[in-house]
Amino acid sequence: MNKTKMIATIGPASKNKEIIKNMIIEGVDVIRINMSHSNFDEAKEIIFSTREIDRELSTSTGIMIDTRGPEIRIGKLEKPKIKLEKGKTIRISKSNVIGNANVISTTLPEIIKYCKMGEKLLLNDGNVELVVVSKDEDSLVCFINNDGLIVSNCSINIPDADFDLKFLSNYDKETVKFAVLMQVDYLALSHVKSQMDVLDINDLLIELNDNHIQMISKIENKSAIDEIKGILKVSDGVMIARGDLGVEVDIEKIPSIQKKIATLTKESEKICVIATEMLLTMQDNPRPTRAEVSDVANAVLDKTDAVMLSSETAVGKYPVETVKTMNKIIDEIEKEINYNELLLEYVRKEKLDISMAIAYSSVDSANRVKAGAIVCSTMSGDTAKKISNYRPGCPVIALSPDEKTIRGLSINYGILPMTVSMVDSTDEIVNMSVNAAKKLLNLSQGKKIVIAGSFPLKSVDYTNFMKIEEIK
Ligand code: PEP
Repeated sequence: MNKTKMIATIGPASKNKEIIKNMIIEGVDVIRINMSHSNFDEAKEIIFSTREIDRELSTSTGIMIDTRGPEIRIGKLEKPKIKLEKGKTIRISKSNVIGNANVISTTLPEIIKYCKMGEKLLLNDGNVELVVVSKDEDSLVCFINNDGLIVSNCSINIPDADFDLKFLSNYDKETVKFAVLMQVDYLALSHVKSQMDVLDINDLLIELNDNHIQMISKIENKSAIDEIKGILKVSDGVMIARGDLGVEVDIEKIPSIQKKIATLTKESEKICVIATEMLLTMQDNPRPTRAEVSDVANAVLDKTDAVMLSSETAVGKYPVETVKTMNKIIDEIEKEINYNELLLEYVRKEKLDISMAIAYSSVDSANRVKAGAIVCSTMSGDTAKKISNYRPGCPVIALSPDEKTIRGLSINYGILPMTVSMVDSTDEIVNMSVNAAKKLLNLSQGKKIVIAGSFPLKSVDYTNFMKIEEIK
């Protein structure tokens, strides 16, 4: 079993139930629905299909809804793709025109007022660079700096903009309400710029009485990089969203940003996801490039919780094969990790509380006795997360009677979640742990497992015991 989790984005190429099922069989842990491209009906169908598949396969697939955020896009074009030519000009109009090579509309007409002369605008994930050369009340006239294609509804990035867009749009509010109603597990928050943006969503979740959804802030602009510590404090995790990030900051800075944010996120004991263009070639080809294979392996070596597939599985020709390929790359590179050395990196300087001390000891003991698994019973999922944060060399089986707790662990490094019925005694916890390890990992006689739990069960709500058990 791989410890680094896989997230796959669902789109036209993969929304069919059989394809989702095959992707889950091949190792996908979390299904992502991007609300920039899907509507509520499509999202509902994907969620229902995934839950049905979970019942058929006895899996606990997490569901992530990715908000649209305060993004800016161009409007519809006359043709699916239009080539813009270097040296010509194009007008960005306030009116809702159908676009062509001379004029386009925008989803945010306010940019006409805010953009300055000389402002740089990047279209279609940075494929075409424009510079504002004149403006009036109704439009911006822009010089085209390079040849390139634009497509209907493609992105507009304004990397040096000194104006702020309202973070929480009505569409995003509806998206959050939808996510709560559908009891999804993760909200990926697009275009977060500050801690306040995350708190806005948190306030909305409180208003909606939600205490389950975990907030993953997407780091995709300069401001989010500057504000990362504050953002991490109030988020459950971050996604290094390299698509927009590569347009908003100089592309050569991405590897060092990825390393720094991954390290900081692990130190903060929050979820870290690395995303975008990991196996992009596989959108059209059955094989990735060598560089892409190295990129996935490098993310695993960064000890990230999860790696993500976007357009490869949403609109690509080979969604299931891409998942299979990613799984094989993860499997191969994880064999190279020295987990004893890794644990030394994670010895925290601050004082450990009881459950942290048990988590650390469970991982240390499991590494020393070469245990087949650490099995932990958890009500909230907290203990399993603490154990996962020490990046053990064996899988962490998390047992809980609460289905939502179990799905909420689907993204965390090395956790194999399983729903079980409630038990009353420590003996029962030990028996249940042995049975789960045998069932999920097929552990043979003589193999050791480390069990972590609470004792006495009814009066202690944190993990305070650890036992090493040999499979009989
Ligand atoms: C990204 O920009 O890398 C990303 C994950 O966001 P989206 O897919 O919404 O562009």
